This record gives sequence, C-alpha cells and structure tokens, in this order.
Amino acid sequence: MAAGLYLVATPIGTARDITLRALDILASADVIAAEDTRSLRRLLEIHGVPLGGRSVLAYHDHSGAGTRARLIEHMAAGRSVAYASEAGTPLIADPGFDLVRDVAQAGFTVTSAPGPSAVVTALSLAGLPTDAFFFAGFLPNARGARQARLSALREVPGSLVFYESPKRIAATLEDAAGALGGDRQAALCRELTKRFEEIRRDTLSNLARSVAEQPPKGEIVLIVDRAHSRTVSESDLASDLRDALQRMSVKDAADLVSRAHDLPRRKIYQMALQLDRETGDDQGDDT
Ligand code: SAM
Repeated sequence: MAAGLYLVATPIGTARDITLRALDILASADVIAAEDTRSLRRLLEIHGVPLGGRSVLAYHDHSGAGTRARLIEHMAAGRSVAYASEAGTPLIADPGFDLVRDVAQAGFTVTSAPGPSAVVTALSLAGLPTDAFFFAGFLPNARGARQARLSALREVPGSLVFYESPKRIAATLEDAAGALGGDRQAALCRELTKRFEEIRRDTLSNLARSVAEQPPKGEIVLIVDRAHSRTVSESDLASDLRDALQRMSVKDAADLVSRAHDLPRRKIYQMALQLDRETGDDQGDDT
C-alpha cells in the first residue's frame, strides 16, 4: 500500500458489517492507529486479521500534535497508516479531523474505506424525509445551552439528526418538544444493527411520554422532521393565491401555494376555485 492515511470505518454493532476493503487495509497497512486500541484488536481477532508484529498506536481526542507528527513521520518514511475510531466512521462525532487536516497539509494522500455510520443508518430507517438533513451531533449537556442550540435549529429546512445517550434522551426530548414544537414527527433509533434494534416513530411529545414510561437502553440517534406547521393567515394565503391566479391556472396556483406553505393541496384548491370565481364575477359586473 502506498504511503498515506487510510481512514477505516468499523461496525456500529454487528461485527460482520465491516467491509472487505476495510479488512484488506487493516491486514496490509504498515502502521495501525485507533481511537480505542482494545476494540480494534478485538475486531481484528474476530475477522482473523493477524497483527503480524505490528503495534496498534492510540490516537484519540486527547492526542496532541506530537502524536500526529509521529504518524506523519511514518508516512514520510514511505509507510501506510490505517486509522479507525472506536465505532463507525472516523471524524463523525469521533476523532480524526485534526489528523486529516495535518496529513493533507503535509502533502500526503488521505483516503477512506467507507462503511457504517449511525447517522446514515438511522436516516435510512426513520421514515422521515432524507432529501436534506442537518447532522447536529451531540447537544450540549447544560440545559440552557441545549435549549438555545435546539431553538437555533428550528427553521432548518431538513431533518435534524442528534446523537444521544440513554441517560439524557428524556431531557432532550422534553427540550426538543419545547423548542421545536411537540407535534413534530420524530424517530428514536436505538441499538442499530444490534440484537435489540428498535425504532420508535411518533411526535416529539409522544416520544417524551414513551421514554418516561419505558426508558430506552443503549446507543441512540434521534431524528426530527423539519417544521411544517408554520401558521399562515387566511388573508396571506388568499393574497398569494390571487397573485398566482393572475399568472396561471387554478390547478397550478393551488399546487404552487400549497407547496410553498406545505399545506394540503385540497384545501388550497378549494380556496383557489372560490377566489377564481369571485374574480370572474367582479370582472363580469364591470362589463
Ligand atoms: N463515528 C460514529 C458514527 O459514524 O456513527 C459515531 C461515534 S459517537 C462517539 C457515538 C454515538 O453514535 C452514540 O452515542 C450514538 O448516539 C451513536 N451510535 C453509535 N452506534 C450506534 C448504534 N449502533 N445505534 C444507535 N446509535 C449509535
């Protein structure tokens, strides 16, 4: 393998979710670095990848520039360095950002053996729109800061993704219901790819109740739908429809305005018909 940094994604639960390429890289890299050296050794054992005299170097959140410099020295000496975080994809709520930046700046190749990540796994299971999403990672621990962060995310035009712990999920759901609206749809995705995988799909308020009654265990991703229920006054709707009706058919005007306000098309179509009739009548009176 050529000199450079090879980011290796590892399973978030089921060990067999590792990719064949990840195993190839771990088998043949000159140097292996890991956030958690014990769990990486265990993964290598499970898949029968021999270390063959290689040591596994620790690189985690507290590793400083010195450790990065040592890894870069290996690359300068022509060695390939594989890096894995404890679980899932490195850099995704995990260490590796400084390492990638420094290795790229030093002029070495950075490549990736992509694989599992809890954010993508949860998005694919939540049953909420995935056309756009915002990965918000872990919320702050302090309640005030958490509420402020949630409020700042209120208008994000996409699904929100949070990493959570079972200890804090009750407080987060309560704060999210307060800051984002209790009627927003959400999905609590727990223990993904593991034996007790569970998805609870409901509104934020109902999920808060469900978590109080039945506290979840294990690792959690919370997905929250974007805001839909911006209240629009009837007169604003009528004004938008009148404007649209000057340029297009009743059907197209209803489509446009219902999409713009994310409201049911049927109701807007009835309004558009009524307005179109009234306009027709007015014009009739003038002649
Ligand atoms: N790098 C990882 C990734 O790509 O998803 C994330 C690491 S972050 C330190 C750990 C958090 O990810 C957990 O607290 C949880 O929110 C989420 N997570 C990881 N594995 C999970 C799983 N199997 N089920 C649900 N959430 C998981």
